[in-house]
Amino acid sequence: MMKRMRNDEHKVQKRQAMGEQLKLGGITDTGVLEAFMTVQRHLFVDASHRTFAYNDCAWPIGYGQTISQPYTVAFMTTLLVERCPSGKVLEIGTGSGYQAAILDALGYQVFTIERIPELYEMAGRALDSMGITVARRLGDGTLGWEEEAPFEGIIVTAAAPHEPLTLMGQLAEGGVMIVPIGDFGCQRMTVIRRRGDRFEYEYFQGFAFVPLCGREGWPDDNG
Ligand code: SAM
Repeated sequence: MMKRMRNDEHKVQKRQAMGEQLKLGGITDTGVLEAFMTVQRHLFVDASHRTFAYNDCAWPIGYGQTISQPYTVAFMTTLLVERCPSGKVLEIGTGSGYQAAILDALGYQVFTIERIPELYEMAGRALDSMGITVARRLGDGTLGWEEEAPFEGIIVTAAAPHEPLTLMGQLAEGGVMIVPIGDFGCQRMTVIRRRGDRFEYEYFQGFAFVPLCGREGWPDDNG
């Protein structure tokens, strides 16, 4: 019992340290920082990486995929929160389920799509074990989730070779998509906002994501 309590306190301290690190990196939104304090990242990483779960690093989650670095998740989440503080949000690339849990902690109605069956199952188990209920789908996220559209926000957590047109069509009026666009080595974080029949673009710093594979992404054999 005592050991468990010490362990929990230790995790809280690690989350606080991660929060401080994020602040140093320029993440200042209090809601976002609180979500990072709430969600237990160590439960989304493989047991072999658990000790380091709160380091500002991406970790392998199997099948050639990663749980993104906390700074990356915080940066994308901040872009979303500042432009779209509530509503329906679709995440493409469930991966470990961590980003979905952060969005849930912020009060969004979350929908998430993963293309790799094993990761879809794994993330489902992790989210269920924490009592986090988000709508999940197995499939090609580049095609979106038409029955649930339109979305106030879409967050693509894999590298798109170009603007994902079908997803853009599933944005609500005024809705925003956060998507890294570029080649395999580096992508520019891009915000696309729907204004009637037009789309407005904002560009931010570079990141390195695993590829978005699918009909409107990279060919499948890159995944
Ligand atoms: N958001 C994840 C998290 O919090 O752990 C990290 C995502 S990982 C960097 C990218 C994920 O996108 C991988 O799990 C990959 O299988 C998935 N992915 C790539 N292309 C996809 C597609 N077309 N549809 C759905 N998921 C896709």
